Amino acid sequence: MKLSIIGAGYVGLVAAACFTEVGNEVICVEKDQSKIDSIYAGNIPIYEPGLDELIDKGIKSNKLRFTNNLEEAVKFSDVIFLCLGTPQEDSGKADLSQVEEVSSKIAELITDYKLIVEKSTVPVGTHQLIKKNIERYSKRSVDFDVASNPEFLREGFALQDFMHPVRIVVGAESERAKELFKELYKPFTDGGNLLLITDPTTSELIKYACNSFLATKISFINLIAELCDKVGADVTQVAEAMGLDSRIGKEFLRAGIGYGGSCLPKDVSAFIKIYESNDLDNGFLKEIHKTNERSKKRFVEKIEEVLWINKNKKIAILGLAFKPNTDDIREAPSIDVVKKLSERGARLSLYDPKAMSSFKKLFPENNNLKYCEDVYSAVSDADALVIVTDWQEFKDIDLKILKSKMKLPIILDARNLFDPTTIKSLGFEYYSIGRP
Ligand code: NAD
Repeated sequence: MKLSIIGAGYVGLVAAACFTEVGNEVICVEKDQSKIDSIYAGNIPIYEPGLDELIDKGIKSNKLRFTNNLEEAVKFSDVIFLCLGTPQEDSGKADLSQVEEVSSKIAELITDYKLIVEKSTVPVGTHQLIKKNIERYSKRSVDFDVASNPEFLREGFALQDFMHPVRIVVGAESERAKELFKELYKPFTDGGNLLLITDPTTSELIKYACNSFLATKISFINLIAELCDKVGADVTQVAEAMGLDSRIGKEFLRAGIGYGGSCLPKDVSAFIKIYESNDLDNGFLKEIHKTNERSKKRFVEKIEEVLWINKNKKIAILGLAFKPNTDDIREAPSIDVVKKLSERGARLSLYDPKAMSSFKKLFPENNNLKYCEDVYSAVSDADALVIVTDWQEFKDIDLKILKSKMKLPIILDARNLFDPTTIKSLGFEYYSIGRP
């Protein structure tokens, strides 16, 4: 098939690479020319394991192209995927300005049938707004469908998730659109077995329901961790026992500093707003959000409790990305940690395997904030080590070397990376989440 993907971000790049890999011809449209230049120079603007090779392969096969010319892409393709950002507005609602802008432009360019697909996460009912917008801006009577096809990839495992999905959700009305999706997703869905076709409204709602449920699991276990901290119980054992029950499942039951990233925080907020705009109050999700905020706050307070005075203390921070195997720092808990410790006058030495260049844009280097080349230079002469992201590299730290480099062997671990008994036996003062 001939496809266009609008937006070369995390979702757009992965979709473009994977759709090309299974034999489609793809044009990816990106308005930021520097991203296109960077891709053609061999530097993919995001870090996602395996993505650079796949994009390189697609470009070399002449099946994948990048452009800032929307017209070229619209003319070329049968199916147009909107992979645009839908960030959070100050009110908590999803900001749909990128979707509105692009759909208006597409309207002016369509001359024959197109299937326009919302792959971005958009509020329930957005397909109707896009449809109306296209009708409003098109210069002639045009034949098109608007469908919903939410994306469920996890950053860090995006290629695997896209190529081998556990399900694909499509919300389409016309038979023509449904048939196009069946054809397109055949290579990914075990001959169609994993393809769930609904109406567009239901499909839009499914994405928010999934992300809100995942956020709920994380906040739930963090709530249990709060109590474990008070009564001396072990949250990892609680989670293990809960997770063995197949009705509960073990995923997303790891206590920590709370969820971050470009999806869960904004989607929970947007879902709350969707309820409000339908005259309903989702008090339940509001509590999930509050619990998450409290998890971050509690950890930052713990640093002060443990170190007493933070001013002038050298604190090493390991992990800036919102989770391992990505360079994405959107809504990362590390932002809260670095902001608060900087305000308290601590001297910070930061290290992350992939996220330092984006973090530097938020927090430029200064006398009290330095970026380091590796774990051991970050912890050198530190009064304490704070672990914020669970990169494998941190799990593999040589604890004896670590101890020899630090001024004081104090670790505050927001991801429960180490066994408390083992690490304490090595002479560390160790604080984790919900474990004695
Ligand atoms: P992103 O911000 O990384 O990518 C959006 C891209 O669109 C950017 O490169 C931006 O420059 C480009 N863009 C903006 N306006 C444009 C225009 N007029 N023409 C062409 N390009 C334009 O966002 P993302 O993380 O890829 O997420 C995209 C959507 O998918 C969001 O709705 C998000 O909620 C959803 N989603 C994201 C993930 C994830 O893990 N990142 C997973 C599932 C769903």
